[in-house]
Amino acid sequence: MAYNIAVIPGDGIGTEITDAVLPLLERGSEHHGFDFETTWYEWGSERYLQDGAMMPEDGLARLEHSDAIFLGAVGHPNIPDHVTLNGLLLPIRKGFDQYICKRPSILYDGIESPLRGYAAGDIDFVVYRENTEGEYANIGGREHRGFDHEIAVQSAVFTREGTQRVVQQAFEAATHRDGRLTSVTKSNAQAHSMVFWDDIVQEVSEEFPDVTVEELLVDRASMDFIRRPETFDVVVASNLFGDVLTDIAATVTGSLGLAPSGNINPSGAYPSMFEPVHGSAPDIAGQGIANPLAAVLTGAMLFEHLGENEAAAALSTAVESQLADESAPRTPDLGGSATTAAVTADLEDRL
Ligand code: ATP
Repeated sequence: MAYNIAVIPGDGIGTEITDAVLPLLERGSEHHGFDFETTWYEWGSERYLQDGAMMPEDGLARLEHSDAIFLGAVGHPNIPDHVTLNGLLLPIRKGFDQYICKRPSILYDGIESPLRGYAAGDIDFVVYRENTEGEYANIGGREHRGFDHEIAVQSAVFTREGTQRVVQQAFEAATHRDGRLTSVTKSNAQAHSMVFWDDIVQEVSEEFPDVTVEELLVDRASMDFIRRPETFDVVVASNLFGDVLTDIAATVTGSLGLAPSGNINPSGAYPSMFEPVHGSAPDIAGQGIANPLAAVLTGAMLFEHLGENEAAAALSTAVESQLADESAPRTPDLGGSATTAAVTADLEDRL
């Protein structure tokens, strides 16, 4: 099998971890007998500062025929986040209808959670965040800042199709895991959108009688991600709530430097995009100390999406064995003093 992978290193530590990790993915594909052709796109903030656009106008057309996209990170201290987001990430997520943002949260052996009393394996859940509409729909029209900047109006849009499909996929995922699904809303305060979401969860749940459903308000869920993270299995939430909750989830499992994610279009009509949860981290960029493990685990998710499960498992196992080994190199975010290069070299040995 031969795959064509589009690689967008992006900015800051995005480029550093991409350079470090892609050779590991190529090596993994050789070991497991499939071709992994990469096409690199130097898009991102530097391009924006020169040309006024993060990517070319025909950017989506160029990516469309790839089997998957690997993205490092985008973001720049001199460019507002909404510009980078709307210049690259959102057009790709929306253009390719990547309607699920899937973010697993696992506490690994060798990693200390900031929560007392949690050991490896205690925390293992996955968040399915709606990724194309909801609070981040940005529909324009009546949305505005007005009255001499005294008022701002921003709408959230939830469609039946948009809600149903992510909820359906989350239920599906629960059937392959522990059979528990938590739906997070704010239905006590948002009587239209969130009650609509609850109704759809109820409808879809009828197709999955073996899945236990829990409904939580987002304030309570934020508390419970910290108070009882071990009880979650699959969590499904809107764009905004999923965004916030997954940062809490990454924190309770040790470091942003360990958190992978996939922006997924399950139909396969368009490529899915895999990226670490972290951003371009301008504070440590250029120092060669970024933790590459989130990107390695992101690579494992990408392999899994391609159906290359053995290659995916090899990457995850190498990461697990490195983290469990007290003498292995660690980057500063995990309390060590090793470089990105030292961590990837050690991983290569383990692979
Ligand atoms: P952006 O605007 O691109 O999202 P940011 O600085 O707001 O960038 P992150 O890049 O996610 O957000 O960084 C948040 C914090 O986590 C920073 O202190 C950063 O150094 C740290 N961090 C993020 N990713 C890593 C990593 N891979 N290795 C080590 N530290 C990291």
